[in-house]
Amino acid sequence: MSLSENLEKLSNAYGVTGREEEVRNLLIKLMKPYVDEITVDRLENVIGVKKGKKSSPKVMLAAHIDEIGLMVKTITKEGFLQFVKMGGIDDRILLAQKVLVHTKKGLLHGIIGSKPPHIQKEEERKKIVAYDELFIDIGAASREDAETKGVKIGDPVVFDVKYAKISDDVVIGKAFDDRVGCAIMIEVLKMLEKTDCTIYAVGTVQEEVGLRGATTSAFGIDPDVGIALDVTVAGDVPGVKEFESNMKMGKGPALTVADAGLITHPKILRLLLDVAEENKIAYQLETGLPGTTDAARISLTRQGVPSGTVSVATRYIHSPTGMLSLKDAENAAKLVAAAIQKLKAILT
Ligand code: ZN
Repeated sequence: MSLSENLEKLSNAYGVTGREEEVRNLLIKLMKPYVDEITVDRLENVIGVKKGKKSSPKVMLAAHIDEIGLMVKTITKEGFLQFVKMGGIDDRILLAQKVLVHTKKGLLHGIIGSKPPHIQKEEERKKIVAYDELFIDIGAASREDAETKGVKIGDPVVFDVKYAKISDDVVIGKAFDDRVGCAIMIEVLKMLEKTDCTIYAVGTVQEEVGLRGATTSAFGIDPDVGIALDVTVAGDVPGVKEFESNMKMGKGPALTVADAGLITHPKILRLLLDVAEENKIAYQLETGLPGTTDAARISLTRQGVPSGTVSVATRYIHSPTGMLSLKDAENAAKLVAAAIQKLKAILT
């Protein structure tokens, strides 16, 4: 299956932070043909291993399988669901979104509602409605009715958005952060049919709430090198100054020089740059982003692990629908696969 087909499946699958089961099972299925073994560790990270030569480096690829979403906090006696946010979500994008509540009895459709604007006071209309003033309306008549439908405190809630290809190269969909990283990871495995390195392809859990899955999986794997595959903010939209973000959709994979948690190891950055030049892969260099990726935790594992991040510049991340270029994702995979083939030389 192509990267685009895999991304469609991964984007449409569900896996709010801490409830990643569905997407994990999908990743296991998609990864299976390209690895020698697959394990799920204690925190429920999924680890595909492609065995190489004993003397060659162990490489950990990390793509997080969790996605931002909501969690039911309270059910009002009228049957509305109040919620907390799982991961960084801007309150302004929540209102009027269609969502799916995952209950033990199955999926329930809902809409995020608020006090109708028509009856809001002038000042109220001007201010942002905070998430704790919003609610999910599942059409229930009462708390009992909502409970009968299967709703329980703690149920995960996802945005109800379907993947779509809107041009030859551009796609929109849910949870590109970081299902595109998962799709790239599968491509890298495909391209590395012949390699001396041992590859650990890790679908990490709970990244959005503090890089938790990467922390434990990296400790267990003890890799020689770590590479996170993730998304970054594309700043090529009106209102963004170049200094705030100079990453552009469609201009090639983004290589992190430094972000809030990681300074890409100089040897890894050099290797990625050399390989990009050799293979004529266009790339973008990014620095100074306030966020970080799984690579931040991998790099601080045990005595330290040389690590880097390769990202896809994605528009509207941490909102219900993102937009990205498939070419960027394909080139990210090519770049990482080619870099892994040359790893041994920089480590010895
Ligand atoms: Zn991410």
